[in-house]
Amino acid sequence: MNTQPPSCQSNTPDPGLLSVDDARSRIQSAIRPVACIETVAIRDGLGRVIAESVISPLDVPPHTNSAMDGYAVRSSDLADKDDCLLKVIGTAWAGKPFDGAVKNGEAVRIMTGAVVPDDTDTVVIQENVVREGDTIRPGTGNRQGQNVRKAGEDLRKGQTVLAPGKLIMPAELGLLASLGITEIRVMRRIRVAFFSTGDELRPVGTDLKAGQIFDSNRYTLFGMLTRMGIELVDMGIVPDRREDIETAFRDASASADAIITTGGVSVGEADYVKDILEKLGTTDFWKVAMKPGRPLAFGHVGSACFFGLPGNPVSVMVTFYEFVKPALQKMAGIQETGTPVVLKVPCTTPLKKRGERMEFQRGILENDTNGELTVKTTGEQGSGILNSMSMANCFIILSPEMNSVEAGTLVEVQPFSTLV
Ligand code: AMP
Ligand code: MG
Repeated sequence: MNTQPPSCQSNTPDPGLLSVDDARSRIQSAIRPVACIETVAIRDGLGRVIAESVISPLDVPPHTNSAMDGYAVRSSDLADKDDCLLKVIGTAWAGKPFDGAVKNGEAVRIMTGAVVPDDTDTVVIQENVVREGDTIRPGTGNRQGQNVRKAGEDLRKGQTVLAPGKLIMPAELGLLASLGITEIRVMRRIRVAFFSTGDELRPVGTDLKAGQIFDSNRYTLFGMLTRMGIELVDMGIVPDRREDIETAFRDASASADAIITTGGVSVGEADYVKDILEKLGTTDFWKVAMKPGRPLAFGHVGSACFFGLPGNPVSVMVTFYEFVKPALQKMAGIQETGTPVVLKVPCTTPLKKRGERMEFQRGILENDTNGELTVKTTGEQGSGILNSMSMANCFIILSPEMNSVEAGTLVEVQPFSTLV
């Protein structure tokens, strides 16, 4: 008699499955950053990657200036005198310094951003001052150096402000402008070619016949890649025909740093794609212990990296964010990609889970009535339910060893705001 339990009830993980972490690190270690550098105007640098260190050519701010509207005074005049009376001898405007000398017992009216006059070291805000004609009473409780921004307190001349590998975001644009820098050396943009495979697929703008569906994956890919500032080569839908697929791979590898395909990597489907890829490079076909997104192909076609993503629309997005995005970031030269933030949050709805795969369920992160962060499911979790990605603002990550989750359980959540 056969005492073996049926395989579908086995509790040992499938040895042919690769963990999400292993898949990610195998991919990351195979990626090399692009080498070319170009010079662009700083605004065109938004979303690009710094290629050479930026050294500050000046102090920022360049001069010691007032943080408030008020009066610039000598702190020695303030010491412990409650009824000190100072004579106002002029005004320092932002951009129009007061250039006279300030003697004992004198003060200068000063505006925010104006250079703090020589010999003064403290600004008393106007609200705390009693003004009588051309004199002021600065009152008590003032501290030496208050309301004064020191030259170089933001950036010092000669300091490395931005290092190679830094992604240029709005703050960096402002930082570069504050240094008077007009052009910046950046890594060249990487170029990604992508196409969809599947005989059932039709492009939008055509009519569907029985059994056909619109190709949506090229649109999510377009969106995800465009958000990363990548140069795109959209190669359309390639029919499941040997010659067409081979031509598409050859063309793509001639012009792109990476190739992304969707569909056709699941067992049974992949056979002739495998033959073609073997001829043109090396590709591994993996079964990753994740849901959705189990089948995944990764390797090289000519000199381009190749990512063969599954066909199901949600699988495409999950595998892109978990594997392709960090790889493309490394390829683009970004040094600190930073793993996406993971939060531990109570889940207010039960979640169904079976098997030993890591699940990326779609969730909605929100504040409850007490202002506490909670997460709930978007509902049906099929890998074809793209609407779940549209409703969600996070992935709920259930580790392989977890089972179904009861309402109230703490779960790990990856907010889309740090991911997409
Ligand atoms: P496959 O991985 O080729 O077996 O495809 C898995 C499922 O995803 C099938 O239901 C396909 O019809 C669907 N699919 C594949 N490619 C696309 C696409 N580009 N757009 C929308 N659905 C797709
Ligand atoms: Mg297919």
